Amino acid sequence: MEKKSAWEKYDDKAVQDVFDFSENYKKFISDCKTERECVTETIRLAKEKGYKDLKDVIANHETLTAGDKVYASHMGKTIALFQIGRQSLEYGMNILGAHIDSPRIDIKQNPLYEDHDLVLMDTHYYGGIKKYQWVALPLAMHGVVAKKDGSVVQVVVGEEDCDPVIGISDLLVHLSGDQMSKTAGKVIEGEDLNVTVGSMPKKDEEKEKSKAYILNLLKEKYDIAEEDFLCAELEIVPAGKARDYGLDRSMVMGYGHDDRVCSYTSLMALLDTEVSERTSVCLLTDKEEVGSIGATGASSRFFENSVAEIMNCMNDYTELKVRRALSNSKMLSSDVSAAYDPNYPSVNELKNTAFFGYGLSFSKFTGVRGKSGSNDANPEFMAEVFAAMEKENISYQTAELGRVDQGGGGTIAYISAQYGMEVLDAGVPVQNMHAPWEVVSKADVYEAYAGYKAFLKNI
Ligand code: MN
Ligand code: MN
Repeated sequence: MEKKSAWEKYDDKAVQDVFDFSENYKKFISDCKTERECVTETIRLAKEKGYKDLKDVIANHETLTAGDKVYASHMGKTIALFQIGRQSLEYGMNILGAHIDSPRIDIKQNPLYEDHDLVLMDTHYYGGIKKYQWVALPLAMHGVVAKKDGSVVQVVVGEEDCDPVIGISDLLVHLSGDQMSKTAGKVIEGEDLNVTVGSMPKKDEEKEKSKAYILNLLKEKYDIAEEDFLCAELEIVPAGKARDYGLDRSMVMGYGHDDRVCSYTSLMALLDTEVSERTSVCLLTDKEEVGSIGATGASSRFFENSVAEIMNCMNDYTELKVRRALSNSKMLSSDVSAAYDPNYPSVNELKNTAFFGYGLSFSKFTGVRGKSGSNDANPEFMAEVFAAMEKENISYQTAELGRVDQGGGGTIAYISAQYGMEVLDAGVPVQNMHAPWEVVSKADVYEAYAGYKAFLKNI
């Protein structure tokens, strides 16, 4: 089947639109490097478009009707936004789902220690990473420290030009005789991902003088003590902003495209969509990279509970109607797919591979070893979605994650499908997936945004 690159269909004005959209996306992923930061920014953008907090709607005994816009967030790490349609929710919603957590390195609960005047923080990585990619890089620390007085301290270090950065050291090549003979999985071990944060002894201290210096700094800047790390959620992420990639600036290199590229485009599609018959939804979940578990992961009842609350606010709640609303829904479960990489062509089967610039990528199934763990989408639904794409002249492609038995991966699709709704995997192709700096095509980012709008409008 002959497919054309999206770049070839654009006139000058369209190319400018694609580049302009990417400027806003670059800002989003540069500012939002944790799930909490993504939720905070999502709420800010949604409020600008007239969205109300579901908690306030409930507290004020307001009634929701067609055209109302409302969001529900949970623990600051997952969020669902609803634009109420003209039909009862009972007949189903059009849902755009994606995840806002990204692979990273988390600080342990007892992190700080000193070794020959150097101060380090012990870590436990989050999600699937090639550990050797995370050494000898400028890193930043983002997160929160919850104190026993009930206050929560926000921490961001390493992003401003005047900020210091931190990092994980790597062994000099001159002394790597033993290391270089190890397999890639063993070159850097998980327990050795220790972040260097200081080296300056504090005068007049008895012992652990350099650690005392760092603790003193933390006390002054954030009013936190060593024991406060016990109740902290601190994430080590690549420091710095997303950048244009390629001499032609056609791509974006940034941290956390997986899966903020699908999250941002889904969110923007919803915010730019007119009220329609069916209720339009954007669901941004946490914990996908570690199995969608926990109260803020896609497996939690958060979304189902939010739908029940909204139907109650519409004076349209029964248990049966909630079940019908969920099973009558249609969803694009969006997550990044593997973009063809000329340096590693052998892992793909080229008829079923996603390419940069060819637009939004759909996967009938994901999973590993014979589709295990996947949601195998119905072809009837795929035909409906592809017709919606073609109606709006969206560039789209279909792909699998690599050759059969080369590896694989999962998404949140199978979780929503448990309600009986139609779910199809979609997403933006990425190079360097799960590396500190991932790459996407600006054309694919734009086609995803436009494709999600086409889904909300035409399904
Ligand atoms: Mn993902
Ligand atoms: Mn991932």
